[in-house]
Amino acid sequence: MRKEQCQAERSHLKRWPLIILTTTLLIIAVVTTALLANTRNVDVDATVVNVRRGPGLAYGVEGQVTHGARLAILGEKNSWYRVRLPGNKVGWVASWLVNNNEATTGDAKTGVTTAAVNVRASSTANARKLGTLKSGAKIKVVYQEGAWSQIIYDGTAAWISSKYVKLDGASTNVSTSDQALANASAAAAANLSVTTKRNANLRNSAGINGSVAKNLPANTKLAVIGESGEWYEVKTNSGTTGYVASWVVTTPSNGTSTTTATSLSEATIVLDPGHGGSDTGALSTGDKYEKTYTLRTAEAIRSALAAAGANVVMTRSSDTFVSLAKRPKIAHQVKADAFISIHFDSSPQTNEASGHTVYYYSSKKDISLARNLNTALKGVGTPSRGIEFGDFEVLRDNQQPSVLLEMGYINDNSDFSKIRTTAYQQRVAADVVEGLRSYFENGAQH
Ligand SMILES: [Zn+2]
Repeated sequence: MRKEQCQAERSHLKRWPLIILTTTLLIIAVVTTALLANTRNVDVDATVVNVRRGPGLAYGVEGQVTHGARLAILGEKNSWYRVRLPGNKVGWVASWLVNNNEATTGDAKTGVTTAAVNVRASSTANARKLGTLKSGAKIKVVYQEGAWSQIIYDGTAAWISSKYVKLDGASTNVSTSDQALANASAAAAANLSVTTKRNANLRNSAGINGSVAKNLPANTKLAVIGESGEWYEVKTNSGTTGYVASWVVTTPSNGTSTTTATSLSEATIVLDPGHGGSDTGALSTGDKYEKTYTLRTAEAIRSALAAAGANVVMTRSSDTFVSLAKRPKIAHQVKADAFISIHFDSSPQTNEASGHTVYYYSSKKDISLARNLNTALKGVGTPSRGIEFGDFEVLRDNQQPSVLLEMGYINDNSDFSKIRTTAYQQRVAADVVEGLRSYFENGAQH
């Protein structure tokens, strides 16, 4: 709807009794796949996946792999895979961005040491020494990397020089417990701890729907004991365990915020289908409701974003009423990297106006998002009316980068003939994905 009309609508809504039929917050969560330690290859599902130096979003990006790439799995920790990359590099990718459809049996090789050898915590000569193995000691090699072999030592994963390893050719399966030990050890070796950037909730399960176990003040140091999707499993000084969102903590290892999504595949996007439930929005030329098409379009965007690897949260995913005040709050709750509200315009008389408009509120935090989306939407099929300032509550009260898209005039015959089609909805979706991709690549402004 037009700005004036949406404002009128807001004041109208205030007169409604506060009957909230259902407030649905649907997290299109990361697909948590069962992690098979003995899977050998994964295919990259998302368009672009960051390869990180360690198993978590807190680690720096060392490269990227693109859709269709096949990566050999060297190890696995919680929801991250350690993979071999072209050029024999090694890095970590999020398991929910790759597809492990090739479940073959993985082997650990057995062997013996050919000399007395130092056992180290990681694969460098100056790494902490865990002990020594005598010549001829039986070893189980989990995997080899360059000059180093990872073995199970004293119930934990450790490294010895491959020079002193003689594999006996026979193989045994890596047992799950061995793999678990290797994983636990990797976490311990990394000795990762995080610090809350602000007041944060310690939850009993990973996800914003998890019940709150404790409120943590800013600057609370937490030991990382595991990871689940975008959540860290942590332990406080007093021994309480729980989960915190990765985007509310910093790590001393790189000292930088983990909030900034460096690519679309790691971003959290909140999609806000306008209106819903008793709030029908504007009427089309054939008396159809705006709320129906905002949801259909948002659903198309949701699918396209999920395919690109983004974490998508919808302010509503069915025909329900969600207050205007609640919508930006959802964006705050999940610390969205971008909030996109979907609407359709309406002119006082039918067939008076046509085209789509990208609205922003803040010329600081929103304008870059608006520009990138506007550029991407230029060829969507309805004329572009450009970028405009819009004093909408969902933008005004929003602390996250946010825009409101009016994707055509619903009471214009030409626009509505497009708006109602799946083809248009999917084109909008593809263009929004493209706009977000360029937004994050050009350096999102937060
Ligand atoms: Zn509207």
